[in-house]
Amino acid sequence: MSTYTNFKVETDADGIALVTWDMPDKSMNVFTVEVMDEIEAIIDQVVADSAVKGVVFTSGKSTFSGGADLTMLKGMFSMIEEERVKDPANATKKLFDAAGRMTWLWRKLETCGKPWVSAINGTCMGGALELSLACHGRVAANSNAVKIALPEVKVGIFPGAGGTQRVSRLTDAQSALQMMTTGQTLTASRAKAMGLVHQVAEPGELINAAKQMIKDGLKPVAPWDEKGFKVPGGGIWTPAAAQLWPAATAILRRETQGNYPGALAILKCVYEGLQVPFDTALRIEQRYFTEVLQTTEAFSMIRSLFVSMQELGKGARRPAGIPKTEFKKVGVVGAGFMGAGIAYVTAKAGIPVVLIDRDQEAADKGKAHSEGLVKAAVSKGRMTKEDAEALLALITPTPDYNQLADADLVVEAVFEDRNVKKAVTEAVEAVLPEGSIFASNTSTLPITGLAENSKRPEQFIGVHFFSPVDKMMLTEVILGEMTGDKAIAVALDYVAAIKKTPIVVNDTRGFYVNRCVFRYINEAYDMLIEGVPATMIENAAKMAGMPVGPLSLNDEVAVDLSYKIMKASIADLGPASVKPEHMALVEKMVDVLGRLGRKSKAGFYEYPDKPAKKFLWPGLKELYPQKAASDVDVNVLKQRLLATIALEAARTMEEDIVTDPREADVGSILGFGFAPYTGGTLSYIDGMGVKNFVALCEKLAAEYGDHFKPTPLLLDMAEKGETFYGRFNPYGDEAKAA
Ligand code: NAD
Repeated sequence: MSTYTNFKVETDADGIALVTWDMPDKSMNVFTVEVMDEIEAIIDQVVADSAVKGVVFTSGKSTFSGGADLTMLKGMFSMIEEERVKDPANATKKLFDAAGRMTWLWRKLETCGKPWVSAINGTCMGGALELSLACHGRVAANSNAVKIALPEVKVGIFPGAGGTQRVSRLTDAQSALQMMTTGQTLTASRAKAMGLVHQVAEPGELINAAKQMIKDGLKPVAPWDEKGFKVPGGGIWTPAAAQLWPAATAILRRETQGNYPGALAILKCVYEGLQVPFDTALRIEQRYFTEVLQTTEAFSMIRSLFVSMQELGKGARRPAGIPKTEFKKVGVVGAGFMGAGIAYVTAKAGIPVVLIDRDQEAADKGKAHSEGLVKAAVSKGRMTKEDAEALLALITPTPDYNQLADADLVVEAVFEDRNVKKAVTEAVEAVLPEGSIFASNTSTLPITGLAENSKRPEQFIGVHFFSPVDKMMLTEVILGEMTGDKAIAVALDYVAAIKKTPIVVNDTRGFYVNRCVFRYINEAYDMLIEGVPATMIENAAKMAGMPVGPLSLNDEVAVDLSYKIMKASIADLGPASVKPEHMALVEKMVDVLGRLGRKSKAGFYEYPDKPAKKFLWPGLKELYPQKAASDVDVNVLKQRLLATIALEAARTMEEDIVTDPREADVGSILGFGFAPYTGGTLSYIDGMGVKNFVALCEKLAAEYGDHFKPTPLLLDMAEKGETFYGRFNPYGDEAKAA
């Protein structure tokens, strides 16, 4: 038997070859060119070896595989772009061939004449599931570790290695479409119920069960290669399909607003593919895959949502040469809304937490938040009782600062009040060990100013969480003028430990995320004041790809918070910093109408008791003379909402607040859901071209105000034909910006 770098092949006395995928130096198996070459060699080897009766394919790691390493796709984009300059037609042909490599390799496996069984021991996603679907048998372990999905749509592409064709031939079209257009994750039993796996076996019995399938005479022929094969549900030309397909396109439109070419391609592949023989269907899929790979959406989403997210998660911005911190204890001061959540995510990461508040009762109340969360997780079967108890045991609620004497890091989350924060900083530093780091979770107060309260400002940093803390994946790490490298390293180690994605931002009012968010809300205020119907504002935002309309978002963060922030801006920066019309609107909402947002059950929306749903407050129509819907161009509303945010992101780059375009992009998607198909705020600009963006801004400025005027940086970039990823190349000057 040959030897392979990534696989072990062992044939037993029954002639069953066990192929174990176990990539050296990787925590998870992923597809690379080398892996695919080796799989091809293994197929050839087992076919040539008459002693081999069948193959069981499994993983030597705790997960099966997460699929393709999308960094490989990013490299492919660069290669194709170079080729396109020389020979455009050949570039597309090359991409088509590269896109089909996996497709035809899995088809070769499926038609090799010997039975293959995939033994799925853990997470099996993307290309790995597509490989499994090409196997003649599939057994999954009866374990929570088994997560089965085709999640490609989440990074702008779709299952392009036979996934759309095999899933739709194994299960009914509706379930197939739902699974692939949402990227939903299936348990082993759900996958079995859908017909995607044949058997679920106890983890210790997985390989035996897979081998038994071969011993029981598993045919080395896929169902669709058998004569007389019928698609589940009867295929496209049935009364049921006539009902399903119009609804499916409508639902997709509702969910994606036509913004995701990858999602639409899934419908096209299934609809067209089910009408033709299997090999033709695979070619249809390969063509759509090639087409989708060439879209700006796929390029930008893969870059931001896969490559950059991974790089930031691995600490791309961490200063070198400082040993990694293993957290023995973290302190959280302020056990309120945010502090309670911060304590929970810290304990969830296995780190002991001291949760401090003004008295025992307040501290206990903070811990009760974690008790509620674990109780819900246990009742939903997402956490065992033992894990829940272990998590809670890590949180010590107390008013006693002395318990911080051996903490590596303290996160302060007390009232947003300079004096309270000063007192807490002093109390903490009185007991905190010399080398430990103090982090403030302030959302509005500049870190440099707060660090003036500290005896060791180089160890003072901002770690800004978003609510709800247990759900939001982003954390902004804010550098004050004096913040030192050790503080940055410890903050990033902490963010990594609690499994969130960090962006490192220089100090400014509102930091990065909130600066962008308030632009979004302010644009909606402008629209309301102009008399644009509120429903149109909210719908335009959704159509532009935002998860939450700006008025709804304002209700969530609280209208009185906007009011407070406006007043603080005027106090610190002068009256010109806030539009008087915005102030008048918010003042009326808060002071006159008492409409503070969701928390007061009245804001821009009304919040009736459940199960009734929230609805826009009809009284908004009385506040400003209303325009007729036909006089409002919804496309312009969409442009305004996205452009105002993107412009603010560009300003933060110009002001050196954000210094790496990956952080602006990832921060915008994780922080406030900026239209993910764009790849984030700066990719939105790069995607349309800075020149076009500048032209758009000039048009909007002429009509809707100077806040749309393109900045000097943008004008300069437009003139030079630059992109953000070129000008602020995160990989250094020598590296080629993709
Ligand atoms: P909160 O009012 O819910 O909680 C503040 C807690 O601090 C209270 O439990 C209070 O008893 C405690 N506290 C006050 N003075 C104290 C003292 N001297 N010693 C110990 N504990 C003290 O407020 P919150 O919403 O959790 O906000 C806390 C911080 O987080 C603020 O700086 C806020 O700007 C920031 N923040 C809030 C959000 C949000 O969405 N609410 C988001 C990001 C950041």
